[in-house]
Amino acid sequence: MKVVIIGAGFGGMAAAIWLSEAGHEVELYEQAPAVRTSGNGVLLLPNGTGLLRELGVDLTGLGARMDSVDGLFRDGSLALRVHLSRIAARFDAPVLVGSRGRVAERLVARLPEGVLRLNMRCTGLEQGGGSNPVVVSFADGTEVKADVVIGADGQRSVVRTSLFGEDPAVYLGDATWHGITDLPGDFASGHAVHSVFGDEGICVMHPVGEGKVYWAFELPFSDGDVLPPGAVGDTRSLREEGSAVTNLRARFGHWTAPGLQRLLAAMRDEDVSVFPHIIHRELPQWGKGPSTLIGDAAHVVPPRVGMGLSQALEDAWVLSRTLAGSGDVEAQVRGYEQARIRRVRGMQKAARTLGRKTVPMPPWLLRRIGRLLPVTKFNLAQVKNSSNYLNNDLPAMAVQERP
Ligand SMILES: Cc1cc2nc3c(=O)[nH]c(=O)nc-3n(C[C@H](O)[C@H](O)[C@H](O)COP(=O)(O)OP(=O)(O)OC[C@H]3O[C@@H](n4cnc5c(N)ncnc54)[C@H](O)[C@@H]3O)c2cc1C
Repeated sequence: MKVVIIGAGFGGMAAAIWLSEAGHEVELYEQAPAVRTSGNGVLLLPNGTGLLRELGVDLTGLGARMDSVDGLFRDGSLALRVHLSRIAARFDAPVLVGSRGRVAERLVARLPEGVLRLNMRCTGLEQGGGSNPVVVSFADGTEVKADVVIGADGQRSVVRTSLFGEDPAVYLGDATWHGITDLPGDFASGHAVHSVFGDEGICVMHPVGEGKVYWAFELPFSDGDVLPPGAVGDTRSLREEGSAVTNLRARFGHWTAPGLQRLLAAMRDEDVSVFPHIIHRELPQWGKGPSTLIGDAAHVVPPRVGMGLSQALEDAWVLSRTLAGSGDVEAQVRGYEQARIRRVRGMQKAARTLGRKTVPMPPWLLRRIGRLLPVTKFNLAQVKNSSNYLNNDLPAMAVQERP
């Protein structure tokens, strides 16, 4: 069967590797002149690291091992602790803060020869109907026929628009400002993520080794903030110029949590990227005919849940296993979608409700929650419930064992 995949991000590359292994004829089209290997840190939960191992990716040197997330008040006092080491032990797969670039490089190295086609921007597709193939069009005029088309083309997916019309992800009013900064010391070589919260926003600091810290500030926009490039939705109150670092120092300069002042002093504007929080409308199915979506094209969520990459790998895993099974192709594709949609819903709900907006709780209440509630068990359940892989949950028509 000929499978055309649009977009060589994490989801597209994983699908190309697994579908080629299953014996399909695979073509992977990417608009850029090279696969993107830049970027910051990325949290890899046990489903993410487990699936990377399934893809034949060596985890050695991919990132730093994380043993806990410490939720701190802005004065540095502890509100709650999530033991990531227990979650990792439960699933026999580590929790890492990986380098996005290194993950991408290792996936590129696993792609079969001749599968990747660069500088190919997809402009749309035409469903064949009946047993006719789907026709995919590209900006240079090329047309390609396929038995199955997979839109792995990210949050502004052309494939999604071709299938369902204009329905862009909506802006939720917050953004994450993030970067990597040299901050040698005990924290950078440790294994605890610090998530510091207060009325002004949230600051998450991840030690990534080699004297570096990957940091992310989550905050609302208000008058005078810098406009996030590519923001969608209501951004009318935002200015288009200014210094992100000056803005962050003004907002968080009085916080006294450990390391925060040093971080604010060391940050430089050229290290800062911004990601406005957007979310897709939840669709009852992700495709039509033999065409479907995976990854951010199907379900972009704000980065606060730290699951986007792992969920893209989950989609690719379930879809490849299902297409390796027997039966009608359209039924297989719909089977994949339903198996994933019921797992992804929880992540979408968490992404809408967790984070900055839960912070206005009084500190005594948060401390009590941290002491009384089994927060590690809660997180473990969240990771497990959002994963088909950790539950070996595949549609009945899928190949249940590795082909
Ligand atoms: C600030 C930030 C922090 C994050 N932190 C985490 C985290 O800690 N943990 C985590 O798991 N996830 C995290 N994520 C999310 C994660 O990076 C994404 O969910 C993941 O990259 C989605 O992968 P994808 O393959 O679906 O899409 P992408 O990685 O976006 O890939 C899409 C690809 O399609 C290509 N493309 C687009 N349009 C076309 C076209 N028309 N024709 C051809 N090619 C096209 C693009 O060039 C790109 O290569 C974070 C994201 C952000 C922005």
